[in-house]
Amino acid sequence: MRLLSLPPKLRLAPFWPALAAVATATVLLWSLLPSLLQRTAAVQLFDMLDLLAPIARDRLADPKTNLESWAEQLGADSGVRITLIRRDGVVLADSSVEPEHVRDMQNHRNRPEVRAAFASGRGTNVRKSATTGNTYVYVARTLSGPGGDVMILRLAEPLEQLDALKTRLAAAMGLAILAAGIAILFTSLWLDRRLFEPVSRLIGGAQDLARGRVSRVAVPDEEELAALALALNRLAATSEQQLDAISRERDNLQEILASMSEGVLVVDRDGRAQMINPAFYQLFDLVGDFTGRPALEIIRHPGFARLIEDTLRKRQTQSSQIVLPSPERRTLLLTSAVLSGGERGAVVAARDTTELTRVADMRRDFVANVSHELKTPLAAIRGYAETLRDGALDEPPTARRFTERILSQCRRLQELLDDLLILSRLEGMDAALDREPVDLDAVARRAVELLTPAAREKRVEIELQEEEVPAVQGDAGNLERLLLNLLDNAIKYNRPDGRITVRVGRDGGEALLEVSDTGIGIPAESIPRIFERFYRVDKGRAREEGGTGLGLAIVKHIAQAHGGQVDVESRMGRGATFRVRLPLAG
Ligand code: ADP
Repeated sequence: MRLLSLPPKLRLAPFWPALAAVATATVLLWSLLPSLLQRTAAVQLFDMLDLLAPIARDRLADPKTNLESWAEQLGADSGVRITLIRRDGVVLADSSVEPEHVRDMQNHRNRPEVRAAFASGRGTNVRKSATTGNTYVYVARTLSGPGGDVMILRLAEPLEQLDALKTRLAAAMGLAILAAGIAILFTSLWLDRRLFEPVSRLIGGAQDLARGRVSRVAVPDEEELAALALALNRLAATSEQQLDAISRERDNLQEILASMSEGVLVVDRDGRAQMINPAFYQLFDLVGDFTGRPALEIIRHPGFARLIEDTLRKRQTQSSQIVLPSPERRTLLLTSAVLSGGERGAVVAARDTTELTRVADMRRDFVANVSHELKTPLAAIRGYAETLRDGALDEPPTARRFTERILSQCRRLQELLDDLLILSRLEGMDAALDREPVDLDAVARRAVELLTPAAREKRVEIELQEEEVPAVQGDAGNLERLLLNLLDNAIKYNRPDGRITVRVGRDGGEALLEVSDTGIGIPAESIPRIFERFYRVDKGRAREEGGTGLGLAIVKHIAQAHGGQVDVESRMGRGATFRVRLPLAG
């Protein structure tokens, strides 16, 4: 039933106890009613007894009176049983007994009401009559009979009448209770619909709000409840807006953190991970969910532990660089900051600086190498110049020799600076390179032509093998420089009566430039480093040959700037073959 399904506390609490009280009172009254009715009946009977007493006295005084028929008549008129008893207990007359049977009646001396009347003038009793078999209320009083003899006049009223009254009363009371119950039930239903149901809906809405679930409640008709419902709905709307704003902010934050290349870890005051972004997982090669775990257990690195501990203890921003040895050596820059002055823990940002560190190292090495390369010729020039100043000028042959050497060192310096300039231009111009169709055959012919005198001087022969090659898209000047550098090396590191073969051809979809020589070759361990700046296999020989150590670095740069690549094949003493592959135009 709908009524029962509602919260019991809201049932019409004061009504039901009231109904129970009424019912209790009814039961109480019901149990007290018999004695009450009997007492009332006794009082009425006594009144009637007192009225009849003088009449009975007169009748008794008159010897002609037939006591039996008088009693019978009076009983019929009054509706009560009338008994006249002599002092010795013999019944003289009884209205409910036939006159001829009166003499057979028991002696009534010991009847309680009779005994009481003899003792105190009046007596009453309720019991089943041995004579008639009915239950009666008896009242009796003394009466002075003829000759001053004391007699007893007794009235009795059967209790059936009282029982009927009692039944009617009970029916009325039951009906009243039933009516009250039904009234309460209907009032309850009505109140339920008007009050309790809306109230329970309001309570439900408020509980939803408390649990963080936003819902709207129906607005009841009742004015006060309607105001409460509207206030609740307004509160729900505000909460909804705030929740929306919070979840939007959280989503934004998540997206920002997820898209960051920097790893981010947020720890609480105890150093437990609260939030870890994907980049952090990646940087530290973490698999699984580490939220809630102590940060020092997640990353077991002394530098990382120190950073976290210092940040939380000193409540200050910290920064440090750590090196992770595996799976591949990486350098990470860690920066930490405290949240709410350290109250809410700290945030650590990790950035992979391996590449930056490598570039910085390269730059440092490069500067050191350049300085070193410049130092040697400058020291030589200075030495020759000082020797000249200190007297060698006066010795013309020595002076000429020294001047020649100064000039040669200056040329060396010039070449070095030229190569450096070319390299630095190439580094910044991958995109800005001139792009035009270049005929590689023509480039090769010109390069061979340019270097033939130098080759002849070294007794080295150059052979050019040309195939029909479509043009490549590129910068003719730089491609010529590439070929000149390779040819220059092939001459420099050749042996007397050696050969150089320059081949221009195709290899699949690419143009191929090949320069092979019969020179000293390159040791296997040097091959991977041969294209590095300033790398030389044999420093003495290279210097002697006037190399800068930048020639092959320039070759590699030019090939790459054209979308191509260069490789080398060589064995010690068996010459070397350099191959440059370039994409064909179109
Ligand atoms: P360098 O100016 O010293 O020649 P490069 O960059 O052109 O500098 O060459 C780097 C080093 O590679 C040289 O010092 C040399 O040892 C070696 N090398 C280059 N080309 C050849 C070659 N054709 N045969 C043997 N070694 C070579």
